[in-house]
Amino acid sequence: MAPINNEYDYDLVVIGGGSGGLACAKEAVALGARVACLDYVKPSPAGSKWGLGGTCVNVGCIPKKLMHQAAHLGEAVHESVAYGWQIPEPEKISSNWNKLVQAVQNHIKSVNWVTRVDLRDKKVEYINGLGYFKDPHTVIAKMKNGTERSITAQNVLIAVGGRPRYSPIPGAVEYGITSDDIFSLDREPGKTLVIGAGYIGLECAGFLKGLGYDATVMVRSVVLREFDQQMAGIIKDSMVERGIKFLFTTLPNSIEKQNDGRLKVRWTNSNTGEEGSDVFDTVLFAIGRKGLVEDLNLGSAGVEIKNDKILANDAEQTNVPHIYAVGDILQGKLELTPVAIHAGRLLARRLFSGSTQLMDYANVATTVFTPLEYSCVGLSEEVALQKYGEDNIEVFHGFYKPTEFFIPQKSVRYCYLKAIAERSGDQKVLGLHYVGPVAGEVMQGFAAAVKAGLTMKILLNTVGIHPTTAEEFTRLSITKRSGLDPTPATCCS
Ligand SMILES: Cc1cc2nc3c(=O)[nH]c(=O)nc-3n(C[C@H](O)[C@H](O)[C@H](O)COP(=O)(O)OP(=O)(O)OC[C@H]3O[C@@H](n4cnc5c(N)ncnc54)[C@H](O)[C@@H]3O)c2cc1C
Repeated sequence: MAPINNEYDYDLVVIGGGSGGLACAKEAVALGARVACLDYVKPSPAGSKWGLGGTCVNVGCIPKKLMHQAAHLGEAVHESVAYGWQIPEPEKISSNWNKLVQAVQNHIKSVNWVTRVDLRDKKVEYINGLGYFKDPHTVIAKMKNGTERSITAQNVLIAVGGRPRYSPIPGAVEYGITSDDIFSLDREPGKTLVIGAGYIGLECAGFLKGLGYDATVMVRSVVLREFDQQMAGIIKDSMVERGIKFLFTTLPNSIEKQNDGRLKVRWTNSNTGEEGSDVFDTVLFAIGRKGLVEDLNLGSAGVEIKNDKILANDAEQTNVPHIYAVGDILQGKLELTPVAIHAGRLLARRLFSGSTQLMDYANVATTVFTPLEYSCVGLSEEVALQKYGEDNIEVFHGFYKPTEFFIPQKSVRYCYLKAIAERSGDQKVLGLHYVGPVAGEVMQGFAAAVKAGLTMKILLNTVGIHPTTAEEFTRLSITKRSGLDPTPATCCS
């Protein structure tokens, strides 16, 4: 625990008021520390800017989930007809982009406001300035009007997160947009090319298609690289079934603005060498994010980085002992909001209340909010195979039919789940994967069980809640090794 030292203005200065920084700042003041939190958002190249709270609230999880929900509701309107709802001319329903953006932005503004009030009530000093190091204990806040304020801190937390990358091709920055812009776009996106097939790219293409726009995903190599590749393939197929187009092994060459204002994109298929082009209304880059280390003047503090990320030990401590980092800016860690929050809180407790608990980055559950959602916890099949060897793992799997899909005759082809477990003993569960409705809600509870050491013996002795899709995990009797058909015959016996 750091002894409080009054020679500094603050016990802790947090650079970055996003998920991780705010969580740490609030926990630290609750433990009696004097804390200042700097947050500053540089406008995106397309001019988008936003308020306090970081990526998740403003241009990440929250607006993404709201747009995903908007797309879901459109689908639900069509399904409701099969359930007896009388909707005049359901084929004519359409979404109103500007109204949706307004609703989403109103919600975000209310969260910005509540966050600000919360900081004031909790006595965290909020400074709307861009922070950089003058020396290891001095941070300068550069305000919007150009003035600078110097503050000293016994401890500094770097929680600056990241921003989307653009491809280094002509026209990318001038005409492309990213997730920083899509949720506040003041015009309809229209026919959209999403460049990048990570989870953000797929989610954006998914909700755009669901809202009625033509969506194409350009894939450099593989879809959802960081995830189990069988599940990634299922997600991709389910998107194709919904009419989302994919350009595989393709790299963009240029974006030109035509006289009519539309964007001509040229590309090359890196496998065949074939060149192609098409015209779009919107080109959205989702090719990854870069850490915001550039503005921090880290050299003055002596903090080590690797590329654009900060190196830290298991206690989120950099090579400079009183400087820490949490969240997306950390090298080699999961880039997820609850990870940043949990790491931030635990760090505050270690600094100001004598705790020794470290953040456990293993078995963190996550969800990809594609039209048919995918959630998982633990190892992918590839990693399990690599770590344990084929003879030592068992993969239980099955397709299933959600009850609510029957009446509207929704496709059940891609509703699939699997459990990867040790082969011997009670068969400790190493990974769970699920594609289907409300995937995040399904996985959260199972993630707690996996954290507690769930085994297949316990899972298969758990009585399901019927009729749910989550209960399918308790019915997983077929192993891949058996070669038996994993498609279900009946739902209720
Ligand atoms: C489109 C999208 C969807 C996502 N969906 C999910 C999801 O569904 N679930 C999930 O868990 N995660 C999701 N994420 C990831 C999640 O948003 C991040 O993991 C999380 O926000 C990281 O928090 P952080 O505190 O590290 O950084 P951030 O939340 O990015 O906060 C950093 C803050 O620091 C500010 N800043 C940067 N440099 C400085 C400086 N020098 N001085 C002052 N302030 C500075 C930044 O402007 C920002 O406000 C999504 C991300 C995106 C982009």
